[in-house]
Amino acid sequence: FVELPSGFMIPTVGLGTWELQGEEGLRAISTALDIGYRHIDTAEMYGNHDIVGRAIKSYDRPDLFITSKVGAAHLHYDDVVSVCDSTLLELGTEYLDLFLIHWPNPAVPMQQTLDALEHLVERGKIRDMGVSNFQPHRMRQALEITPHPIANNQVELHPYLWQDELARLCRDRGVTVTAYAPLGRRHVLEDNTLRMIAEEHGVTPAQVSLRWLLQKGCIVIPRSTSEQHLRENFELWHWELSAVDMAAIDDIPERERFINKTFEDFQEG
Ligand code: NAP
Repeated sequence: FVELPSGFMIPTVGLGTWELQGEEGLRAISTALDIGYRHIDTAEMYGNHDIVGRAIKSYDRPDLFITSKVGAAHLHYDDVVSVCDSTLLELGTEYLDLFLIHWPNPAVPMQQTLDALEHLVERGKIRDMGVSNFQPHRMRQALEITPHPIANNQVELHPYLWQDELARLCRDRGVTVTAYAPLGRRHVLEDNTLRMIAEEHGVTPAQVSLRWLLQKGCIVIPRSTSEQHLRENFELWHWELSAVDMAAIDDIPERERFINKTFEDFQEG
């Protein structure tokens, strides 16, 4: 667990739910909850609040940590508030633990989106507010605009994409970082360095990728529909990577972003 500005704790391993839909998606989320996952990452854009809501119904709400995100097309003040209301209805819950701006949208003044999130915190509809896909310049801008703490920035991070400036900035300003696509959508799993380290520890390359991110201080939200993978991705505590292993992964020469590569903010630098 890591503590957020609200004082509530976020579990450092959560379940990603992008593309989890229908009965198969429901089964994956329910299996994850059976295994012990208590942190679920969803979004307005994923269109799956209904199955998340069905899966969490039999659990005590305070034991769960639910993140959702408002889409880039809905960042005007009233839209943020109404998306939050419909999200709560669809999930069948009275509050979100974390509500994020899914993608920045320069067409909408950031101030009004952050004001709306702050309003939702004050109304008790969300416990913490945060952002996603905010590069360092937008992160600085957001931190300047709002006096309210920004709890989290959810960004793409895995052994082929470490965003050092962003990670340092977030750490220095008390913003937790969630690594999305922490397996690089499977692309990193064939990597020789990860395979070698995995073999030494008797674990899998997926576990090495997740453990590397955890040891770098990130929260991870891998997605899977396979029970075996869900278990694997949750068994990260009985072993650790040495400083030599960490450095070897840091030194992997491949560098690649897999999600929304053409997004304008990602073209800089
Ligand atoms: P990911 O978690 O990096 O990779 C998911 C893929 O890896 C699936 O094909 C899964 O297949 C496979 N996999 C999972 N565990 C495995 C294991 N132990 N061994 C081998 N293969 C394994 O990709 P992602 O879903 O894009 O990212 C995770 C979550 O981050 C998303 O679901 C979403 O919640 C969030 N996200 C957020 C944003 C954003 O803009 N904020 C963008 C992208 C993603 P199986 O089902 O066969 O296991």
